[in-house]
Amino acid sequence: MGKKRILSGMRPTGKLHIGHYTGALENWIKYQGEYENFHLIADYHVLTTNLDTSEIYDNTIEMVIDWLAAGLNPGESPIFRQSQVKEHTELYLIFAMLITAARLERNPTVKDQVRDLKIENITYGHLGYPVLQAADILLYKGNAVPVGEDQVPHVEITREIARRFNNQYGKIFPEPEPLLSKFARLPGLDGNAKMSKSLNNTILLSDAPDEVNKKLRKAVTDPQKIRRNDPGRPEVCLVFTYHQKFNPTEVPEIEKGCRSGALGCVDCKLKCAAKINEFLAPFIEKRNYYESHIDEVKDILADGEKRAKEEARKTMSEVHKAMNLG
Ligand code: ATP
Ligand code: MG
Repeated sequence: MGKKRILSGMRPTGKLHIGHYTGALENWIKYQGEYENFHLIADYHVLTTNLDTSEIYDNTIEMVIDWLAAGLNPGESPIFRQSQVKEHTELYLIFAMLITAARLERNPTVKDQVRDLKIENITYGHLGYPVLQAADILLYKGNAVPVGEDQVPHVEITREIARRFNNQYGKIFPEPEPLLSKFARLPGLDGNAKMSKSLNNTILLSDAPDEVNKKLRKAVTDPQKIRRNDPGRPEVCLVFTYHQKFNPTEVPEIEKGCRSGALGCVDCKLKCAAKINEFLAPFIEKRNYYESHIDEVKDILADGEKRAKEEARKTMSEVHKAMNLG
């Protein structure tokens, strides 16, 4: 038997933040080799929250640079745009018949987005975006999907669609599982439970050290810790969560200092910024390389798209055959 497959994707909305890394990208890199990976640039998905496509290409290139700088290996795993493989939209149309509107309206991730982005009237396409995601995953017969916590309900919808298709037309698709990391929902600098570009509470993977220092200085901490010596509650502090991820060895000491009041927020944030900068340094160096070798990045995309198309065509011909549409 061949290796199991991973389908992983992100929307090209610009440079990535450390939440994208801890929630998804870090796992993508970890599972390279063990699984066969397909890395999707979900450009059609951007339309759910932004109809202005004037920057979509530049954002795509920025994101691919982030992926490469973080350590994705395009020789092994194709990197490709959803919009360039037309089978995604074809399978999406078929899958749209296999799920009810009521089921999509119950999706908690879309409910969160509607609240956070203050959407008054959701579009048909936005409501149906988990269906396109199901097509993204199943077109490559993905067995596993490494995602952040917000995406788990979508993987569940994908499983339901796969089951429904298989019962109706014959078994073609696997029922994929989500692969969650330990930091599957990294909080934002403003204390929101999710770091998110649209909430403007991010540390970017490409942020220079003084930018990281500045952002952390302004980060929200325990509101009950007002003066330096007040005892704090690490469990409600996002800076403590960042320490757990980027500075694990000092965590017991920081926890003790915070609780007793011996460690003030200013010093705690300085320590945290230093560790995040240490983590980002090699990444930024690799990023600089790709920024000055954009042609290499474009070649990687062209090659990935060729390989993805081959796979997509194979699956769609099975689908057409199973449905008597051949
Ligand atoms: P943003 O809201 O910042 O634009 P997004 O959620 O739109 O980001 P997606 O392309 O939807 O970005 O997500 C890419 C992947 O990153 C998904 O697997 C998602 O779960 C994960 N992710 C995004 N933000 C976080 C976070 N704060 N913590 C953990 N994982 C995250
Ligand atoms: Mg999202």
